[in-house]
Amino acid sequence: MKSIASHNGKVASDQAFQTMVAGGSPLDGVVAGVTLVEDDPNELTVGYGGLPNEDGVVQLDAAVMDGASHRGGAVAALEGVRHPTPVARLVMEQTRRVMLAGEGARRFALANGFAEENLLTEKARRMWHYWRRRRSGIDDWRDPPADDDLDAHKYFQQEFYKTGGTIHCSAIDSTGNIACATSTSGHSFKLCGRVGDSPIIGAGLYVDNDVGSCGGIGHGEAAMRHVASFAVVELMRQGRSPLEAGLEVLQRINDKALPEERDEQGRAKFELQLFILASDGQHAGVAMRGPKEIAVSDAGGTNLELCTPLWEE
Ligand code: ASP
Repeated sequence: MKSIASHNGKVASDQAFQTMVAGGSPLDGVVAGVTLVEDDPNELTVGYGGLPNEDGVVQLDAAVMDGASHRGGAVAALEGVRHPTPVARLVMEQTRRVMLAGEGARRFALANGFAEENLLTEKARRMWHYWRRRRSGIDDWRDPPADDDLDAHKYFQQEFYKTGGTIHCSAIDSTGNIACATSTSGHSFKLCGRVGDSPIIGAGLYVDNDVGSCGGIGHGEAAMRHVASFAVVELMRQGRSPLEAGLEVLQRINDKALPEERDEQGRAKFELQLFILASDGQHAGVAMRGPKEIAVSDAGGTNLELCTPLWEE
């Protein structure tokens, strides 16, 4: 029995493991774990308190996949509901469909008893407003003061595809069933309606009980173009270890990075991390560049381990 999660998911991985110890399924575990992170207002990239789109509206993406039944469920661009992951689970369990988006997803969530609320915290609103005011020198806004206490100035020096974040969690129980979940508010200040890799089965997450699972965080467009999580699981099916499969997919993604996505040395300058859990219980975390971490829970407790970077920097 084991669970893993992205660096921001120590609490999620721990919850997933404890849920399985208490008799829950891996799916129960990953949903319970990710839900905790969706509740955290200090996590600016997931659920309640996530940074909004360019209009100042929080739009959430999430998906779950259950290895035991090989079914998946997802919601995209969901507004006003802080827990997209349990909603995604209900899409999987209550409908014959895999994904609901936008207004349909919101109405589905409300019909299932989820509360509607304003997900934009004051901190996230101020960060969005700060970004808005600095966006152009030729609009009507004056630049915000440099001593802004949000530390936003530092944050927004980064390029657009670096200002994101996501939670991924995978779990395997003692009978070999595996489930996984990925949840995000997506790239900060994204185009209204933009959907990233996180709710896309195969891109932001994938599991096959016979082989293992993979989920990713980082530049979603790259993960979508390469169907990254599916690619990792298929390489493991062909005999690669989790580490080998993860690094091979990152290398592939690096080699086909768009010209605008490359640094002076020609390497991909975006971040992408993959968290991999094989059906034999082996795990790996890989990242474009270090240091990045993966949370791992087993009978020995929950610990953060270093991911293996493609580029040592
Ligand atoms: N993968 C997420 C997305 O593209 C963002 C991130 O993890 O940084 O929406």
